[in-house]
Amino acid sequence: MADDTAHLITSLQKGYLEATAELAVAEAELERLRVVETASIGAHALLADAEAAIARVREIHGRDDSNPHGPWCGTCTNVWPCATWRALGGEEPDRG
Ligand SMILES: [Zn+2]
Repeated sequence: MADDTAHLITSLQKGYLEATAELAVAEAELERLRVVETASIGAHALLADAEAAIARVREIHGRDDSNPHGPWCGTCTNVWPCATWRALGGEEPDRG
């Protein structure tokens, strides 16, 4: 009976240590995921800011067809698409 009790206590201690080790691993992984989530949120905010800035620049450097000699940029008055528009990798918007 005493041997059974001692064996049970040893088994419980071993289980406790294993569970504690697994908990530490899980907590470390959770912290890693929190860091990734925070970085992801920051990256999404930066992306949204960049996309908004590009949209503002595209709005300013739009095509102006008022010149009879051809389309011009409405802002920098270069032949359209102007260098700014091309630098943004802009394809011409649908004119339809
Ligand atoms: Zn322009």
